[in-house]
Amino acid sequence: MNIIRERLRFYIKLTYLCRANFRRSLMMKDFKRFSIPIKGLGTGLHNYTFELNEAFFKHFEASPIHRSEVRFAVSLDKRPDMLVLDMNIEGWYETSCDRCLQVVEMPLEDAFQLLVKFSEQLQEEEADIVYISRAESHLNIAKFVYEYTCLAIPSLKNCEEDRRGERDCDEEVVRHLDEEAVPDEKPDSPVWDALKSLKFDDKK
Ligand SMILES: [Zn+2]
Repeated sequence: MNIIRERLRFYIKLTYLCRANFRRSLMMKDFKRFSIPIKGLGTGLHNYTFELNEAFFKHFEASPIHRSEVRFAVSLDKRPDMLVLDMNIEGWYETSCDRCLQVVEMPLEDAFQLLVKFSEQLQEEEADIVYISRAESHLNIAKFVYEYTCLAIPSLKNCEEDRRGERDCDEEVVRHLDEEAVPDEKPDSPVWDALKSLKFDDKK
């Protein structure tokens, strides 16, 4: 019974996602270029390159990337049972330094592989694997292009790594932020005392 419920929930989610993506892609002319005609595609390698900038990322509500220049290259290998997408990301985006909040331009460089498998049955979601029906004539990869570019964001963003050349952090701001981060010298507050005095009975 649980398995059926799980499947149903997954199916509803999948239908919702497909509908949302479909609606969105219809609305956005900018997404048309990400639509790959897979049905007529011969087996073997096919290469695509997409230039991305702020105009692309603004379509995604919570995008951490705004001002940017990214070259997103896809090498698509069409095989009988799946499409293998090798993606290469090269570029930069504007953000702020983790230490001093100065505007920096961080490099975006990474490579990922996505498997698009043909399946007529509902499949569990897996990382880096998606399933489509053989009946699909096109594969719109705008969503993947966005998600993988976000994954290329470096974990540390600072002035030293600025693509325009190493810069110094604004030490005055760093000092100010460090002072603000000093913890309260009186950790015992009335609320904390009240919490400590609560007795929990595990045996109930
Ligand atoms: Zn800095």
